[in-house]
Amino acid sequence: MKYKTINVMKHITFLLDDTIRPGAVFNLEGGLLHVNNSFCEKFVTNGKENIKDFFINPIINLWDDAISNIKRSENKTFEVNIRLVGNRVDVVKMHLAYFEDVQQVIALFDVPQSIVDKAEKTYIHAFRNSDSFMVVIDRDGTIYDVNDLHTSYFNLPKDYFVGKTVGAIVKLFPNDTELIVNYFKEVNLYGFAEITTKYIRNVNDVSYYQITTLYDCESQTYLIRMNDRTEEMAMEKRLAHSNSLSTIGELAASIAHEIRNPMTTLKGFVQLLKISATADTMKYLSVIDEEIDRMESILSEMLILSKPGLNEKTTFSLGVLVADMIQVVYPKALMDGITITQKDNILKDSLIVGDSDKIKQVLLNLFKNAIEAMTPGGNLSIFVNLDSPGKVILGVSDTGKGMDKYQVKKVFIPFFTTKSDGSGLGLPFVLKNIEEHGGTVTVESKVDIGTTFIVTFPSAMGCTSVTDTAEKRVLSL
Ligand code: ADP
Ligand code: MG
Repeated sequence: MKYKTINVMKHITFLLDDTIRPGAVFNLEGGLLHVNNSFCEKFVTNGKENIKDFFINPIINLWDDAISNIKRSENKTFEVNIRLVGNRVDVVKMHLAYFEDVQQVIALFDVPQSIVDKAEKTYIHAFRNSDSFMVVIDRDGTIYDVNDLHTSYFNLPKDYFVGKTVGAIVKLFPNDTELIVNYFKEVNLYGFAEITTKYIRNVNDVSYYQITTLYDCESQTYLIRMNDRTEEMAMEKRLAHSNSLSTIGELAASIAHEIRNPMTTLKGFVQLLKISATADTMKYLSVIDEEIDRMESILSEMLILSKPGLNEKTTFSLGVLVADMIQVVYPKALMDGITITQKDNILKDSLIVGDSDKIKQVLLNLFKNAIEAMTPGGNLSIFVNLDSPGKVILGVSDTGKGMDKYQVKKVFIPFFTTKSDGSGLGLPFVLKNIEEHGGTVTVESKVDIGTTFIVTFPSAMGCTSVTDTAEKRVLSL
């Protein structure tokens, strides 16, 4: 029997040496008989010969308890404070097994993960799951690792990067080679640099990436982080555009004003000439008079539309305004062989607050674009509803030639036009004015199927949505 147990202890110490958990064998007084490598690596040993010397707790009672406990039942677990390598004291779980025949105890320890280990895991998690494309580069310039965003950022496999030199990244920006090379020189010099540059997938698909690189002295590695800033850049451009639009507006207003003054003089002289005019010349003077009136009305229209910001704020029904504007474009639609359908409109309750002249122009621009996108047989369908609480929604759909996603991205950019006689200012005007009214505009389009513009305005009636069908009027033109 005894022989057998001693043999078992031999096996156990053998197994102990093979485990990565710290383990030790000691006698009932705590005298250490054997410790494994992990025990020496994790705990501060410096010549200690008794297991009790490792415990920082007031251990006297705990030790007696532990020994009497394990004498009764075979296994027992205790929590003890132990000084770990790196001078950290931590709570360690100690699992004891007692071998009665040889009066020896085996202990296995569970050391909690160190903060450093945890931090490392957190960094790895952040690296893997970041929204940014991340690249780790060795001190000698070899790419060591990249996270999974290599596909969405560059549509390239991981192999394209890992093991290659930093040149592989420079090559991705062939139009900005010099800029990127200088950028990395700056990183070398200062340990940090940031740049925003264009990444051209193809002519119609350009992204803007912000590249931030940091040199970490401790690990002697470079960390590159790339963020997609395409949206922000587009926003900035739009903002710059809306500024330029209001400048154009102010210019137009002052020009209109300047033309009006000499016209008043002209008009006065025509009236003077009329006094002494013969019947024959009177005919011509009347024509001049009428033409001057026409020019005046065009100028007034221009003045209304070019005035920056909101003119006069009133509360009006968007549904009624839509019906009015449909009447305006109806003759043109008829001529082009296009039908107009006005669906499910709530005329009375679609009240919004704002400048109705500007909204008129917004509607005209949207209707005009829709009609211009269609060939005879097409249909322009327009609805106004209150389906979303607190909002008035306008939809303008056509069955025209539609747009691909690259065109859709550009429609609000000033001067973007695909028409030989287009100005490319219609939709920027639409966007600017809808935003000035606290609204939004979105576009959905499919090539050869058609386009839908959805515009929302804050309702003047607050959040109460009226859905009484009696209030709705269905109107087909
Ligand atoms: P313009 O009409 O002078 O070209 P816009 O700013 O009104 O300027 O429109 C810009 C461009 O957006 C148009 O040239 C056209 O390519 C596209 N677009 C606008 N509306 C539509 C639509 N309903 N269907 C297809 N393309 C459209
Ligand atoms: Mg237009």
